[in-house]
Amino acid sequence: MNLKVIDTGNFKLDGGAMFGVVPKVIWQNLNPADENNLCNWAMRCLLVEDGNRLILIDTGIGGKQSDKFYSYYYLNGDQSLEKSLHKAGVDFGDITDVLLTHLHFDHCGGAVKWNTKRDAYELAFPNAIYWSHPEHWNHALYPNVREKPSFLEENILPISQSGQLKFIPDDLKLSDNISMLLANGHTEKMMCPKIKIGDKTLVYMADMIPSAAHIPVNYVMGYDIRPLKVMEEKAAFLKEAVDNNYLLFFEHDNAIECATLGYTDRGIKAIQKGKLSDFI
Ligand SMILES: [Zn+2]
Repeated sequence: MNLKVIDTGNFKLDGGAMFGVVPKVIWQNLNPADENNLCNWAMRCLLVEDGNRLILIDTGIGGKQSDKFYSYYYLNGDQSLEKSLHKAGVDFGDITDVLLTHLHFDHCGGAVKWNTKRDAYELAFPNAIYWSHPEHWNHALYPNVREKPSFLEENILPISQSGQLKFIPDDLKLSDNISMLLANGHTEKMMCPKIKIGDKTLVYMADMIPSAAHIPVNYVMGYDIRPLKVMEEKAAFLKEAVDNNYLLFFEHDNAIECATLGYTDRGIKAIQKGKLSDFI
């Protein structure tokens, strides 16, 4: 089992949307906003070598949208999916499995690209099985009003048309070492992979706890479809995480890749924060 961080670059989202009802005077010190109230967020994917499989968890925003679309998100940073895979010594054709936690564009955009003639879409990972949750897939095909701008047809239809789509089995296991925690607060049936590495367990938090700043139970994003459910799921997860000494991996935290948690007199807090390589 070997893990590598795949940094696909940063984007900006409104701080208010990211922190919901938490006032700016509280979040702005740790998460400074620019003159447009935008905060900078990572799109951090994870490459897992598990036996003879090379599994990529999420794919970032991708490169096929229009300039106008990208102008809303202020892409920045030196890294991209291509560069980070290259740095890891991996080609797109080497990936055997792409696990999409959910189908919001900042998680699955890199899974589909233009063909060389730019007249049709094709899968970015030609030899991979693409994994989704069946109920999430149906949810994304017929989106509610809130999530409609996040589920882009061009990220979804080419995957089903390719014949490379598979749904995670009922036991929620991708392999002996990787199983899915399901969350229904952010969207319907989001999958947060739990990865066993020796005696440690790493949990890829996706949008359940997108950054270290979102650890407190009441820090709920404006994007979440069921805010009370997020709080319930997060409270249960945080307890499980402390009791089992999980390592949390943050997809969107601009600086902190991972954290461990502990009980304090002010509730469950991050105890150690750092890079993945500090922990594994
Ligand atoms: Zn999302």
